[in-house]
Amino acid sequence: MQNRLTCNQVSALLNFYVEDKLSKKLSAYIEQHLQSCPECMEKYIKMKSMLNKFMDIQNQEIENPYATKQYENFKTNLSAYIDNELNDLDNIKIKKIAISNPLARQDLENIYSFKKFLHSSFEKTKNEMKHDYSKSIISQIQHETTDYKRQDPFHKIITTFFLLITFLVTGLIIILYF
Ligand SMILES: [Zn+2]
Repeated sequence: MQNRLTCNQVSALLNFYVEDKLSKKLSAYIEQHLQSCPECMEKYIKMKSMLNKFMDIQNQEIENPYATKQYENFKTNLSAYIDNELNDLDNIKIKKIAISNPLARQDLENIYSFKKFLHSSFEKTKNEMKHDYSKSIISQIQHETTDYKRQDPFHKIITTFFLLITFLVTGLIIILYF
């Protein structure tokens, strides 16, 4: 298997890789690149340890007067809130808890700085939409690997059309001259 990814492509995809959001094939390409590129490997290790640290914070059982049922609820909805997946009412609830509860506020700050760190690698690709850029890399790679399987439909149409014309002309000649 040939190495298909450049360092820039790997940096753009690394946060998805760390969060395990890529296809098996693409993950394998990245893994392959990491094995042969110390610079990207270092970046990956940094991200991975940051993620682990973050997960530890999330999973900690905290003995704290602010660790209320409301706070537990906040923690459950936190990542949906960050990803903008909550409805308006739930969004307001989260904001209210974050204002009144120092634990919640701290969590929110942590998750924001964590997300910011993860996505900072994108800032290089300033003219392209962050998500679209990695999507285009993914589809580019997927195309490269499936191209040989796909017959161009345009070719099929042209071939059919050509055959049809040949039959018609042959038929006409036969009718007219014989
Ligand atoms: Zn590299």
